[in-house]
Amino acid sequence: MLANLKPQAADKILALMGQFKADDRAGKIDLGVGVYKDASGLTPVMRAVKSAEQLLWQAETTKTYVALAGDPAFGAAMAGLILGPDYPGARLAAAATVGGTGAIRQALELIRLANPEATVWLSDPTWPNHPSIISYLGMKQATYRYFDAETRGVAFAAMIEDLGRVAPGDVVLLHGCCHNPTGANLTLPEWAEVAAVLERTGAIPLIDLAYQGFGDGLEADAAGTRLIAEALPEVLIAASCSKNFGIYRERTGVLLALAPDTGVRDLTQGTLAFLNRQNYSFPPDHGARLVTMILGDPALRAEWESELEEVRQTMLRLREDLARELRDRSGSDRFGFLAQHRGMFSRLGATPEQVERLRAEHGIYMVSDSRLNIAGLNARTVPVLAQAILDCGI
Ligand code: PMP
Repeated sequence: MLANLKPQAADKILALMGQFKADDRAGKIDLGVGVYKDASGLTPVMRAVKSAEQLLWQAETTKTYVALAGDPAFGAAMAGLILGPDYPGARLAAAATVGGTGAIRQALELIRLANPEATVWLSDPTWPNHPSIISYLGMKQATYRYFDAETRGVAFAAMIEDLGRVAPGDVVLLHGCCHNPTGANLTLPEWAEVAAVLERTGAIPLIDLAYQGFGDGLEADAAGTRLIAEALPEVLIAASCSKNFGIYRERTGVLLALAPDTGVRDLTQGTLAFLNRQNYSFPPDHGARLVTMILGDPALRAEWESELEEVRQTMLRLREDLARELRDRSGSDRFGFLAQHRGMFSRLGATPEQVERLRAEHGIYMVSDSRLNIAGLNARTVPVLAQAILDCGI
């Protein structure tokens, strides 16, 4: 039986990680995988997480199962973080999931149960796991234009034009903030226009929120999601705690579903529990519990928010430094978009050949679509990257 399996294409980003490891050049620079790194290249456990773990170790008396949809307190804490304290609880279903990817997977399975004919619309480009999971589930997908290769900003008029053609009941997947892989994001007035188009077409938004707090701050990064949640009767939100709590390997995420009324909410809540049971039964609890403790304790929360703000400011400074370095060395403003982009990633706009030259000639690793992880840089490597970008004719 097993011999019938067909080899699966390797994940491009994970393959790049392997290539980087095997490179023995001392000055090599890893701008590939989406993990936050501090100035010394480490991904430390946040202080608030360590404190919560210590408290949990002392207080936890059992490791018995919690509930199929996870602890409702986790769902409530995440709803408060994402939607604000006045979120409409009577319309909200929530389930703890295996990371943000698990939340996306469960959201897609929920959509498939409710409307197997729905087409899921993805930004062009998007995080490669989106199209991959959708096609694995046998669902229909299409893309809407998103990135302007010239300005490296959002091609907003084209996006609105494409979203205007979406059929009622179709799903539009939006990145809540810090778009992966481009770094180009909607302004708040643009979010309002997107909400109006979705309202007009009867499409359902699925918001992927994996980087809240990495862009313009915790509140600002949720503003687009909140606007959509207030405007539309049905909204799905797949959120990850991997990045903003730095708990990647704990696999902590949540799927929030806003339903038109409490009856549909109950139906949705039951279906989310059913879907968890089909896929893995009880979701992991450790990371979710840490998040619930941090968000519910004023001192831990203040500590976490200040650490997250440090992380955000570090990435913003690196963006500004890289844009300045490129301006000084090139005598042009054509890389100014790097300082305008938000989150961990920017799409540089280089060709795959230029990206390959960066790797071969300079030991600088980024994804072939020229997505670079800003957090992989530091004060020493910013000028090195800037010079290499110009040397490779980008
Ligand atoms: N969505 C996007 C856009 C992401 O970049 C990521 C992380 N790479 C995720 C979701 C989910 O991350 P995780 O499953 O690790 O929580």
